[in-house]
Amino acid sequence: MKGRLYIFSGPAGVGKGTVLHLALERLSGIKYSVSCTTRAPRPGLDKEGETYHFISEDEFRRRIAAGDFLEYAEVHGHLYGTRRDIVESALEAGTDIVLEIDVQGAFIVKQKMPEAVMIFVKPPSMEELRRRLEGRGSEGREERELRIKNAEAEIACADKYDYVVVNDDLEKTVDEVINIVKKNREELQ
Ligand code: 5GP
Repeated sequence: MKGRLYIFSGPAGVGKGTVLHLALERLSGIKYSVSCTTRAPRPGLDKEGETYHFISEDEFRRRIAAGDFLEYAEVHGHLYGTRRDIVESALEAGTDIVLEIDVQGAFIVKQKMPEAVMIFVKPPSMEELRRRLEGRGSEGREERELRIKNAEAEIACADKYDYVVVNDDLEKTVDEVINIVKKNREELQ
């Protein structure tokens, strides 16, 4: 049986990376798709090949032309793309795979692969999202304001997702994500 594709989206600062990381630690048979990006690594947070493959814009454009990406998009002024080879080989091998990608990329993938399961992580409120973004301090003021502006547009797309989870309590949100994956596996049997 082929693996199942999951798409995981949500605005910057909502905690989706943490939620996903904790959920994947407790699930087996599902892997994380490491994207390519032209953004600079965040010192102390990013690790080449684990969080992203960090490549130049020239290299990114070369890979677009070669058809290497299942989808790609410009997000917050940088290019991000999903490697087609990683996704296809996981699904062929019967392994589930999750893409942590923005809403533009999510809809491109859903169009190509309608069986993909889409999960959106929402903040409890915009005030809380702003507070979390300021707290994490990984961006300057200008970059942060851009992310907040983009968040509103992204949240407006949440109702097109199959599942929406509100990250107000980390443990509860992780449980919800795990239950979504388990439920989809049961339905496949
Ligand atoms: P960050 O730079 O904060 O890690 O990610 C910024 C945004 O880009 C997030 O919304 C993240 O989900 C999205 N993103 C990461 N990888 C990809 C990708 O391969 N494709 C698309 N479309 N978005 C991505």
